[in-house]
Amino acid sequence: MKNLNVAADQKKFPEHMRPLGSSAFRFRCHSGVGCFTRCCRQLELYLYPYDILRLKKRLGISSEEFLNRYTGVVKGANPCFPSVVMVMSDSAEKTCPFLGEAGCTVYADRPSACRTYPLERAVDRNPSPGAAREFYFLTNHDYCLGHGEDKEWTAKEWVRDQNLQMYNQMDDLWAELDTLFADSATWRGEGSAGPRQLLAFMVCYNVDRFRQYHNVQKLLDQSRLDKSRRRLIERDDEALLEIRDDIYRQRDPERPQ
Ligand code: SF4
Ligand code: SF4
Repeated sequence: MKNLNVAADQKKFPEHMRPLGSSAFRFRCHSGVGCFTRCCRQLELYLYPYDILRLKKRLGISSEEFLNRYTGVVKGANPCFPSVVMVMSDSAEKTCPFLGEAGCTVYADRPSACRTYPLERAVDRNPSPGAAREFYFLTNHDYCLGHGEDKEWTAKEWVRDQNLQMYNQMDDLWAELDTLFADSATWRGEGSAGPRQLLAFMVCYNVDRFRQYHNVQKLLDQSRLDKSRRRLIERDDEALLEIRDDIYRQRDPERPQ
């Protein structure tokens, strides 16, 4: 259940990864399957910034409270920047904190990894001119009985059914930033958990704190954004997350202007 990224010139995928293209796959997940909610336990569930934004809104808490109560920081695929994971409950079953008796209690706002399964997504970040290319692969937990059901989907249909479009769009923006953060030069020798990394972590994951950050107003003042976009950013968390990239591409928020 990972968002994969593929280099522009990598035309071949590993042997076990066959892009689905337009071919169909069989899958259906419902409360009648014997494995129902089995996949919501003992998970290494990576959370992306947009996942956190959706979940904290759903729960009516701040991003900081969400981070403190439900997440942990781990060393993931990025060698220079930490990843965020959901902390499982400390019960014997180690369930997701949002698993209830009848299933997921945050279903409409569940993280992108939960809604993408049984697919994995890869994005060619540097396609020749035109829209970025995405690829979907079928994946399978060995205990998952959903693959034995008779409902057929194409990847396109699955993306639509699971309301993945906005998640993919926001995750792609995040992936670009994550690539920048994977370059040790970005941190100017400060190493992990230095001031620049702490600031970047706040900007990316703690959207409420980012909104309060004194430099946001200054950065907006210096930007070439038109008034309507600025007004949108001032009240809309998604719009604020979207300008993170511009901020990091144009200037390091802590660099003297
Ligand atoms: S294991 Fe598969 S079929 Fe079972 S609940 Fe999870 S996704 Fe659905
Ligand atoms: S967020 Fe929902 S779907 Fe995802 S692991 Fe937790 S309970 Fe399961």
